[in-house]
Amino acid sequence: MRQIEIPAEKPAPIGGAAPTVAVFSHGCRANQEEIECLLGALRDRGFRPVPFGGSADWTIINTCSVTHAGEADARRTIRRAVRLSGGGRVVVTGCFAQRDPADAARLGADLVVGNGEKWRIPDLLTSAASGEGSCTGVLFQADPTTRRFLGHGTRPSGFRTRAALKVQDGCDERCTYCIIPSLRGRSVSRDPDEVLAEARLLVESGHQEITLTGIHTAAYGADRGGPNLAGLLRRLLAVERLERIRLNSLEPQWVDAELLDTLASSPRFCRHLHLPLQSGDAGVLKRMGRGYRPEAYREVAARARAAIPGVGIGADVMVGFPGEDEEAYANTVALLEEVRPSYLHVFPYSERPGVASARLPGRVDEETKRRRARRLAALDRRFRTAFLRAADGAVHDLIVEAKEDRAGGAQCLTDTYIRVAVETDRSAGSWVTARLRWIGDPRRMRGIAVDSAVEESRR
Ligand code: SF4
Repeated sequence: MRQIEIPAEKPAPIGGAAPTVAVFSHGCRANQEEIECLLGALRDRGFRPVPFGGSADWTIINTCSVTHAGEADARRTIRRAVRLSGGGRVVVTGCFAQRDPADAARLGADLVVGNGEKWRIPDLLTSAASGEGSCTGVLFQADPTTRRFLGHGTRPSGFRTRAALKVQDGCDERCTYCIIPSLRGRSVSRDPDEVLAEARLLVESGHQEITLTGIHTAAYGADRGGPNLAGLLRRLLAVERLERIRLNSLEPQWVDAELLDTLASSPRFCRHLHLPLQSGDAGVLKRMGRGYRPEAYREVAARARAAIPGVGIGADVMVGFPGEDEEAYANTVALLEEVRPSYLHVFPYSERPGVASARLPGRVDEETKRRRARRLAALDRRFRTAFLRAADGAVHDLIVEAKEDRAGGAQCLTDTYIRVAVETDRSAGSWVTARLRWIGDPRRMRGIAVDSAVEESRR
């Protein structure tokens, strides 16, 4: 592997025709946000975005490594980009690039950039496009911890009403199954003033809703000595015309009364919490190194519901962790039946190289994992159905995200995270008040636009 020369941070001007750039991201919302920021920064430097999957002077792929399947997808996408880019350069970054840069290079990537160096990509490409620097090889540091956050550029695309804003990176927890801390480094929080400035920029470019993302978002501020996440949320209320603020997944042991009270304090905060459970069995949770017991999860869900009426609570659940016997699995099902989240994301345990759980006894065979996942998928359908049925008839103020939804209406999302197809001719970005209707589909509802003044008097 050849370590490349790092050009100066100042972008060099690009002469001649604008170089084209295509981007693609796998994985979590933080990855999606990063790729949008890279695109924004490159657009500012004179690159012209083109769709991924065709020829492009530069193709950037942000990869995932959280599971075997995530890495398989990354490999497939790299091969495809190399094949279709028409002789353009392919840049691979993200968690797979950090975990195995040599493999990414072997698959045909011209430039491989580890997570800690991702922020350099716009400068690297600008220099190379103007003939001032090399842009092949591997740029990588073993400790990927970085204090540099990518910005969205001066002209973030406002064609969507909802944008992600990364406020935190890395993780100091040590869940025994998780490879992410070794690929993202220690927990680092973005400067709160920088977060506010980025939020204002997003609003000015037409976004009305922001989802705060991170790898361990709930730990926001801990490395800086404050403000914490609740404090950051309160500060964000000062951003005018930022109508809605959402949070991505929060580790349940970090959800305290201050955070819940803050979320309950303004209708601009969405009533939606994604709280990864992983297991409802005390022994499995302990071996996972999750730092809470099942009763703590039950309690935080109950506190959230008491503080924020109608809140939607989503949960991640892992099946087949080493040592998960039938009794442990039954404990997970029992806890879920008790808590009744509004939806589940179910993952089979996927062993990653070098993680502590790889040394644990009690392997669970693949067929058992599939069977358990199938049963939880059925539970997920039941929970979604119950949550949506309970919302039948409720009136919500919604932002039209896109004109055409698959179901033929305007595409909207409630603050509680229910997808709604609203029958309205309002354009994207406008508000509509709608009565939700259950249509027998656990993944979406229909919305009937109502006259808010008339409805107001009925509420
Ligand atoms: S909290 Fe646990 S699962 Fe989440 S990124 Fe950190 S180590 Fe991984």
